[in-house]
Order: sequence, then structure tokens, then C-alpha cells
Amino acid sequence: MVEVTLKPYDMFVDGEWVSAESKATFDVINPATTEVIAKVPKGGTEDAEKAVDAAREAFDKGRWPRMAPGERAGIILKLADLIEQNIDRLALLETLQQGKPIKLSRDSDFPFAIDNTRFFAGAARCLEGKASTEYNGVATSIIRREPIGLVVTITPWNYPFMMLAWKAIPPLAAGNTVVIKPASVTPLTTLEFAKLTEEAGFPKGVVNVVTGPGATLGESLVTNSKVDVVGLTGDTLTGRRIMELASGSVKRVQLELGGKAPFIVFDDANLEAAAEGAVVGGYVNSGQDCTAATRLYVQEGVHEKFTQMLVERVKKIKLGDPQSRDTDLGPLVSEAQRHKVEDMVASGMSEGAKLLTGGKRPTLLTPFNKGFYYEPTLFIDAKQDMRIVQQEIFGPVLTALPFKTSDEAIEKSNDILYGLASSVWTTDIFKAMKVAGQLKFGCVWINDHLPLVSEMPHGGYKQSGFGKDMSTYTFDDYTDIKHVYVDLTNDARKSWHYTVYGPQ
Ligand code: NAD
Repeated sequence: MVEVTLKPYDMFVDGEWVSAESKATFDVINPATTEVIAKVPKGGTEDAEKAVDAAREAFDKGRWPRMAPGERAGIILKLADLIEQNIDRLALLETLQQGKPIKLSRDSDFPFAIDNTRFFAGAARCLEGKASTEYNGVATSIIRREPIGLVVTITPWNYPFMMLAWKAIPPLAAGNTVVIKPASVTPLTTLEFAKLTEEAGFPKGVVNVVTGPGATLGESLVTNSKVDVVGLTGDTLTGRRIMELASGSVKRVQLELGGKAPFIVFDDANLEAAAEGAVVGGYVNSGQDCTAATRLYVQEGVHEKFTQMLVERVKKIKLGDPQSRDTDLGPLVSEAQRHKVEDMVASGMSEGAKLLTGGKRPTLLTPFNKGFYYEPTLFIDAKQDMRIVQQEIFGPVLTALPFKTSDEAIEKSNDILYGLASSVWTTDIFKAMKVAGQLKFGCVWINDHLPLVSEMPHGGYKQSGFGKDMSTYTFDDYTDIKHVYVDLTNDARKSWHYTVYGPQ
């Protein structure tokens, strides 16, 4: 069994390990047991400024943006190797701070983050602008793609390391420098990442990690005029706030925000596969997943049968020790998150939805009886306008609603402020493609739910945000396009000068 020795952590600024200027710290808690597992600096405005100054200097004067892409790629590939060498320890640390089952962190989050890191090391070597031919006979043009500068990366707590890889590696690979702020409840693996960047040979100031509250430290980073781009994965409300703050200095923002994915089951679907898909896609990571299949729309002829199949499968889900490979569902990340889930379930019940299963805290043995666990929950008889259908719960709570026709399923699926992910379950590929074309979501899965790959873009429509994570599309968010115009005549008097002064 891998052991993790937890010690007080420092932050990583300008290549140095430092405490907060105020010397304040905050506790990191294991949500499965509520034990304090680490102390982390509580950074504030001064710490934000130091990190920004370091990253600015590293971008404006340092080697990183000026290196050949192949040299940068070499360092990023070394980082990927180091993550891989430390995978057991890092995955355990992720599970300790976040509560997710070890099989999810060890066999999914980390391998995917490593794959992502390797993908971007290579992809950034293929960035190209075009050089046009002598388009008007007297000049030529070169389109250059350049790193923008200093990117602030703000990450959430649901997939701390995976989101870090999605958000910080692409800007780095493109030659930017970064200041990373992880979510306060899950900062540990991001601090471990900083250590690995040091070992991999990133020049000082290129990667900085500061820890502390979003409302103070986070806002100081977002409002700092030396920052060029803010990339956030987080709640839609946080995204709105960051857009507002970033407008003060016309910063670019890249926002991956909330979701409330529809999961449409037609009566000709492989119901076995759809039921497995709903349980896996709905309750993954205790439902704390922006793409989680939380709104099940089931064609009326199979609605009852399908929901009964779900209940049977839910009974087999194992809750318990996240460090055990037998555990399917860990706790929610925090007490606050469980309160939010309980409040939403209470609102569903008071509005008249019916619980088919779950809806309460489970009974578990010590020390997990103290943890923030919640049973996998399924509602039927919910109405489209209820809070449990319209708002992101971010817990293991699904609703199943019947529909009659494709048009009704599409209308109800799109009737939401989010637009991140969706899925369609049918054996009729023509129907599937017709529905996929009309769903207003950044991703439509057909007969599956959740798979993502480094080569394909992930991002929202509507209030799920804009910009893309993964794939080469993400470079559009972290590079500038520059037009360089080259005169080929060497004439003092160009053919068009007369339009400003003098004769033709
Ligand atoms: P959150 O918005 O509360 O926090 C995200 C990060 O933003 C944290 O680091 C937090 O400290 C920081 N933050 C909060 N307020 C801030 C402010 N005013 N200024 C600057 N920084 C601030 O989100 P969360 O609860 O950590 O994560 C869950 C949310 O993330 C859900 O809404 C989920 O859907 C979303 N999410 C989206 C995707 C996606 O790809 N679209 C992926 C994962 C999670």
C-alpha cells in the first residue's frame, strides 16, 4: 500500500517555496473521515501580486516563450513522466483530499491527465501560422501565432488534477507563463504538481501556484492588470463574476462552467446499455461532474421499466472507504456541498417529485459515519420547471421524466441555461443524428455518456461557458494571431500613397 506523508505545505512562487505573507494557513480535510490532513498557506492580495510579478517577468524576459517548441515539449514530456512515476502517491493524495474512489483517481483521472500532458507537448510543436504568397504583387504576409503572455488558471475541486492538466498544460505548451489557483478544499495535488515542474526543469517563474480563497486571492489575480488571460473551470456564477472583473482591463477569459446534462432514452434503445450508462454517467464522482447525466428523459413506453432497472442497479453501488478498490461511491467533497444536495432534495420533495431510491445519508461504519456521504438518489414525477431539474445539484441525484416524441425530448433537453454535454440512446442512427444536430450542447454522445479524449474539444454552449479544453482548438484561447506585412518593392513611394497625399 502506498503511503502519503502529509506535512505543512508552502506555495510555489518564482521558483521558491513560501508561506503566505500574512503567515495565515487553512486546513485541508479528508471528506471521508473529516480528519484534518494538511495545512496550506492562505494567500491574499500580496501573494497574488508576487506570483503575477514572477510570471510576468518570466514571460517578458525569460527563456520559456522564446524556446524552440521542441525544447519546451521536452520539459513537458519529462513532467508527464514524473507524474507517471508518482501516480500511486498522487492518486492516493487526490482521494484523501477529494474523497473520490481510488479506482477513479488512479485508473482514470491521472492516466488521462498524463495523456493530456503528452498530447499538448506534441501538439504545440505543430502550431503554425500561414505565409501568404505575394497576394498583391508588392507585398507578402506572414501570420504568426504567439503566446499571449501571463495566464491565470483557476481550477475546481471535483477533478483537481485533471482540470489542472486541461487548464494549465495547453497555455504552458504554447509558451505562456502561469499562475495557478486551485480550489481551497483540494489544493494538495496542485502543490505536488508544482514540485514536479521544478524537477522537470521549468525555468523559475514559469509555473506558480498560490493557495487561498477565491473571493480574495482569486479576485486579486483576476483584477491584476498584468494578467493577460484568465482560464476558469468552475461554477457559472463564478464565471459571471470573473467576466465582470476581467472587463476592467479587457482581459480574455476562457470559461468552462456548470452543466446539467440531458440523457435521452428512446424506446428502441438497448435499455441494458442505457441503464448502465445512466448509473455510471449520473453517479460518477458522487455526481460532482459537470457532464454528469442528471436529467434522464425516457420515452413513455419504457419509462417505468427503465427506472426500475436503474433502481436495481443503484442497489449494487458500494459506498464506503474511498481508498478501497471495492468502493464505487465516496463522500461529497465537503459539508457545504452535502448541505447543498440536501437542500435540493428537500426542494424536490416539497415540490411534489417522488423519490424512487436514496434521498438520505447512508449508514456507514466508523470512521466513515462522520464523512460527507450521500446515497445515490433517483426522482420520478418531477416537472420540467422544478429546481431539481433546472439547477446544477452537483451530487448523486438524478431525475427521470417521460417524453412522447423526439421533438418533446429535444425541447425539454434544451430548456436549460446550461449547454455542456448530452447523450442520446437509440438503435436508430438516423434518429440519433437528427437529435444530435438539434441539441444545444458542446458535446453529444450517442449510446454512451462521459468518454473524453485528448484529441477532441470539450467546452460549453450557452451559460456553460466558452472556449475549449483539450484538442488543438484550446490553443485559440491561449495564443494571439499576429499579421506581419512585408513590403517587397523597397520603393519610397508606394503605389497607394497618392490616396493620402500628392498626385497619382
Ligand atoms: P467554484 O466556481 O466555486 O470554484 C472554482 C474555482 O474558482 C476555485 O478555485 C475557487 O476558489 C475560485 N473562485 C471562486 N470565486 C472566485 C472569484 N470571485 N474570483 C476568482 N476565483 C474564484 O466551483 P467548484 O465548486 O470548485 O467546482 C464545481 C463547479 O465547476 C461546477 O459548477 C461544475 O459544473 C464546474 N465544472 C465545470 C467543468 C467544465 O468542464 N465545464 C469541469 C469541472 C467542473
